[in-house]
Amino acid sequence: MHAIVAREAGGPEVLDYVTLPDPGPTPGRLLVRVAAIGVNYIDTYRRSGAYPSMYPHLVGSEGSGWVVDAGDVPGFAPGDHVAWADGPASYAEMVSVDPARALRVPPDMSFETAAALPIQSLTAHYLSRSTYPATAADTVLVHAGAGGVGLLLTQMLTLNGARVLTTVSSDAKAALSLEAGADAAIRYDEFTNMATDLPKKLRAVTGDKGVDAVFDSVGKVTFDASLASLAPRGMLVLFGASSGMVPAVDPQRLKNAGSVFLTRPQLSDHVATRSELVWRAQEILRAVNDGTLQVRIGATYPLSDAAQAHRDLEGRNSTGKLVLIPDH
Ligand code: NDP
Repeated sequence: MHAIVAREAGGPEVLDYVTLPDPGPTPGRLLVRVAAIGVNYIDTYRRSGAYPSMYPHLVGSEGSGWVVDAGDVPGFAPGDHVAWADGPASYAEMVSVDPARALRVPPDMSFETAAALPIQSLTAHYLSRSTYPATAADTVLVHAGAGGVGLLLTQMLTLNGARVLTTVSSDAKAALSLEAGADAAIRYDEFTNMATDLPKKLRAVTGDKGVDAVFDSVGKVTFDASLASLAPRGMLVLFGASSGMVPAVDPQRLKNAGSVFLTRPQLSDHVATRSELVWRAQEILRAVNDGTLQVRIGATYPLSDAAQAHRDLEGRNSTGKLVLIPDH
């Protein structure tokens, strides 16, 4: 089979399209023929070494496809359409999937949509349902509003009744964010001083109060501005580092910002049990099925072009979800 391997830590150029032996049936696991692969920021952190990995590293964390061999795994059968989150080595034509991380998806759902959902939609779900379940009383800020998580999170928070403001870096991204339900999409790329200009802008649109919560996946370049944009006792949800890791924070800053809260959640702690994973996934699949939740596939690439997908994601050239399609 063909697969993508990061030969060493580095930029997208370390990704090689290689031929490897097919994985075989393994007791207790699902052998899956891959139909579509979701590209995630975590794949770039593991490729670059921002998250320590062993090299050569088999890249990828989610996808969708057909079960070829279900062995003795209860609840799954050959031919089932499945998607999985947190599955290593997913940039490949065949994968061996831990059934605890696998979800059956309806046969009428496209494989691209099924591959786009696991990590980004489960993340948007836990952020908006568990971390800060915003209500109609809240005004919140979502950074990178036209990104994969950003578009889904905006929709889910809006469904909760919250007023959602977003940041974006182009007019085209602003249009997508507004379409997803944002009340306003702010061009943060136009600020000369992010740390002062963004809070000023947000105070202007919230009657000088600030926002009740900030969902910050951008990290290094937005963190100070996010903290300064909160209303007293607001919550900063730092959940990513698209611009780089945030340096150590002095807890006194939370007092000075108005007795605010800071949390740094991760998906794995919110789908740690099978029942929680299935609960979140069923709500998402229902919402996609009834049209309440729109999934935007921003671009698809052949699996062999994974490096270009990483360049587009890290270069801020993407919207919604990027998906790889194996050649078979
Ligand atoms: P996105 O589609 O959101 O892509 C990243 C976006 O971040 C870009 O499009 C860009 O939007 C914005 N951005 C701002 N500054 C930079 C910069 N310097 N370099 C690159 N991008 C920048 O990616 P995902 O939806 O896949 O992931 C979003 C974030 O969520 C990531 O940080 C990821 O690590 C995190 N995440 C966290 C999880 C968790 O459980 N904690 C789980 C899943 C994802 P714009 O051009 O509009 O500025």
